[in-house]
Amino acid sequence: MKILVLNSGSSTQKSALFDLDPTPSSEPTPLLWEGKLEWDGDKETLTLKNADGNKFNAEAVVQAKDRRSSLEKMLQKLWQPPTQTIRNGSEIAVVGHRIVHGGPHLCQPTIITSEVKQAIADVSAIAPLHNKAGLQGIEIAEKLFPGKPQVAVFDTGFHRTLPPHAAVYPGPYEWFEHGIRRYGFHGISHEYCGHRAARMLGREISSLKIISCHLGNGCSLAAIDAGKSVDTTMGFTPLEGIMMGTRGGSVDPGILLQLMRADHTSVDQLDETLNRRSGLLGISGVSSDMRDVVKAAGNGNERAKLAFDIFVHRLQTGIAAMAASLGGVDAIAFTAGIGENSAEVRRATCAKLGFLGAQIDEGKNALAKPDVEISTSKSAVRVLVIRAQEDWSIARECAELTRTM
Ligand code: AMP
Repeated sequence: MKILVLNSGSSTQKSALFDLDPTPSSEPTPLLWEGKLEWDGDKETLTLKNADGNKFNAEAVVQAKDRRSSLEKMLQKLWQPPTQTIRNGSEIAVVGHRIVHGGPHLCQPTIITSEVKQAIADVSAIAPLHNKAGLQGIEIAEKLFPGKPQVAVFDTGFHRTLPPHAAVYPGPYEWFEHGIRRYGFHGISHEYCGHRAARMLGREISSLKIISCHLGNGCSLAAIDAGKSVDTTMGFTPLEGIMMGTRGGSVDPGILLQLMRADHTSVDQLDETLNRRSGLLGISGVSSDMRDVVKAAGNGNERAKLAFDIFVHRLQTGIAAMAASLGGVDAIAFTAGIGENSAEVRRATCAKLGFLGAQIDEGKNALAKPDVEISTSKSAVRVLVIRAQEDWSIARECAELTRTM
């Protein structure tokens, strides 16, 4: 069955096509087609990829009047040159959507109905950038693939097992009663990473304590005990936790009070500062991309070096916190853009994790091509590098959910 996945972000709209058996295996299947729209201010870029991995930059194709029309045009490229992969939209069996925030009630993958759409819209107040983009994707898919089942998979869902002491903020109890609690994100990636790590180690996941480190544009850690999330670094929104590309992660909330009182900073300005002007970009002043930061640090840029050092420090303390929540750790898995590709980040991070029993092989780390183990044979904690497979995981959930329909 051909399953189309829409992965809507605040500044990207990715889409991927898979062909899966109704009872899919645990191993990812290759992409048949991929489309990626990126927005940087007024600039819009479309990249298309076919099953052979050939890339096409199709900037001139879009430049439509708004993001909605651009997404529609991108999806039509499924049956148009130069990346025609299907005859027409009717070949799509199911459309799966990554929905970032499921709020208190939406946890399990679910068939999208008008009630589900309303529930996603209700949560938009908490995650406005992401959930609105998700809803837009759903509406366009309804138009292009009428009558086909659509499935929502929630990034918060995997963390539904957080115990109350990890989920409830130590503010007034009424916060919790009003849905202000720690939800956690990147759940689709963390869940896949945990299961993949168990398969790589040849162990049952029920016997393992795993720390999954999702380090991409957004970064978060998950403590996975016997396959269940028991702690994570992101919270009510994807702003909490470790340092990221343009988000700083946790900062003293007193800073925000100070900025509002002394500088009369508005809510929108704070939002912009916390979401777009902090993290690697905010400290280095160079870029939110770890590659640029490492390069600038290597060229002697002091602020870029500081940004790298803070990133690693926060990552180390985050990993230690997750290990404490688990009461020990069998494996640490690095995934997503930085986790998969930055040998520098992995080396610097693991340099201080000897107290947990983690020791990496410098040579294996430097040459790591996921999925691969980079720990030494003596290391008490196995250290793994795993390719993120969010889109395939969503496609798999779609196959599972619609098999019996
Ligand atoms: P993702 O959100 O998973 O696509 O990850 C995006 C981030 O991965 C980028 O912002 C980069 O900082 C980072 N990244 C990608 N490739 C590399 C690399 N070769 N070395 C270091 N960081 C990388």
